[in-house]
Amino acid sequence: MAELIDGKAISQAIKDEVRNESAELEKKGIRPCLAVILCGNDPASTVYVSNKKKACEYCGFDSVSLELPEETTQEELLSKIRELNDDKKVNSILVQLPLPSHIDENAVIAAIAPEKDVDGFHAVSVGNLLIGRPGFVSCTPAGVIQLLKRSGVEMAGKECVVIGRSNIVGKPMAVLMLRENATVTVCHSKTKDLREVCKRADILIVAVGKPKMIDASYVKEGAVVIDVGIHRLEGKKLCGDVDFESVEPVASKITPVPGGVGPMTIAMLMKNCLEGCMRQNGLLNESDTAYIPGMRQEHR
Ligand code: NDP
Repeated sequence: MAELIDGKAISQAIKDEVRNESAELEKKGIRPCLAVILCGNDPASTVYVSNKKKACEYCGFDSVSLELPEETTQEELLSKIRELNDDKKVNSILVQLPLPSHIDENAVIAAIAPEKDVDGFHAVSVGNLLIGRPGFVSCTPAGVIQLLKRSGVEMAGKECVVIGRSNIVGKPMAVLMLRENATVTVCHSKTKDLREVCKRADILIVAVGKPKMIDASYVKEGAVVIDVGIHRLEGKKLCGDVDFESVEPVASKITPVPGGVGPMTIAMLMKNCLEGCMRQNGLLNESDTAYIPGMRQEHR
């Protein structure tokens, strides 16, 4: 039987660490502030934005939310982002995706000042990640690394297979695993013999976006399985991209859905907001976050 990797407990521990560090900042008269822009009425996005506001309150951050109507033009949205870029009180900016279809997401992400890009989607953030410079890392894959580290999973030298190559999960995930000295294979919809490739993995990270697609036939005995997927089934029950009942007896460790990767995303967002604010105030020792093999702090 696999050991469960408890994302709820680990995310809570990270939020508590952030809250403690934020209380230390407060003593210096510094309070992080996250601005969230929501454009349109997507019900899931409304819930995500409200959860982000609550997490900010918990961590002792200020938050500003801009709720813009569906018919907002791209230029109006870009102009709001420019105002927030120039606003000294705002340390971090997040535009909730997806945006209405008449707005170009890439143009919006590119407009955010890289030093405030807490989602880590800006080309500067992605480039810094790739070349091992300090900067923001996309929250979900950064959360997966924390789950692995804090569950005592050794990554160096291990075979890691990532299923999915999206810009927000699969690609940064692969780079982060490389950074941890794993040997990384990235799979996608054109991969041949997916099952055989996955069976090589000591660590299998699934971000395929297909409910319960990965069953035990894809998993090597004793592998660690991380399920990034999240889907709402009929009857409101949540499931992941992994068929948990089938895989759990084969894996050594596995993340459940819910309660695995899901809660890590907001916790890592809070950590990014804190670090962004510290960096802007010259308070972050960059060797703590930069990729310097053998010199990183535990849990970074
Ligand atoms: P995308 O749909 O953007 O990417 C899916 C990837 O899976 C693509 O690279 C695609 O390949 C690949 N793929 C699709 N079908 C197959 C297949 N049959 N065989 C092999 N590869 C395949 O999804 P995201 O990366 O945005 O998200 C992945 C999952 O993670 C989703 O379930 C999403 O809901 C969840 N998610 C969860 C988050 C959280 O906070 N827990 C945050 C973000 C996402 P190709 O590139 O060739 O099309």
